[in-house]
Amino acid sequence: MLSKFLPNEHVKSIFDIHPSTLTEKGIKGIITDLDNTLVAWDVADATPEVIQWFKLMKEHDIQITIISNNNLDRVKVFSEPLGTPFVYSARKPLRRAFNKVRKQMKLKKEEIVVIGDQVLTDVLGGNIAGFYTILVVPIVKSDGRITRINRKIERRILNYFRNKGKISWEE
Ligand SMILES: [Mg+2]
Repeated sequence: MLSKFLPNEHVKSIFDIHPSTLTEKGIKGIITDLDNTLVAWDVADATPEVIQWFKLMKEHDIQITIISNNNLDRVKVFSEPLGTPFVYSARKPLRRAFNKVRKQMKLKKEEIVVIGDQVLTDVLGGNIAGFYTILVVPIVKSDGRITRINRKIERRILNYFRNKGKISWEE
């Protein structure tokens, strides 16, 4: 059960995720979180770097869909200029939104990677739905209220894995 909280990979930021390493793994689709994964939770629009990253993935025929627990306004304002499909109020870690996107992408589970900054929503949800999961370091330390509570639990889970020698990265 606890292994569902463990990501397959951990990187500093999305910019450490390159299309070639994904395609080598047979990955054809990315399901990514928005807040603190692509931009800080209080930043409305994609940065030039994020726009470039999306473009790069598209050039390598890797589909991207944003799945966020945040509301329609937030997710739409961010996603539409990128021309990327999105799901808002996704209720991660529930698997429903993940499965919906997998069907829309017309891909197999093994062909999709889930990227996010939270263990309790992104990693857990991605693992439950059967995808490869990559945890990124949150862009900013501050969070909304619910996330702050999640972070406390997350820290305990990560410390557990660290003590067991299952993860090697530092906080
Ligand atoms: Mg997030």
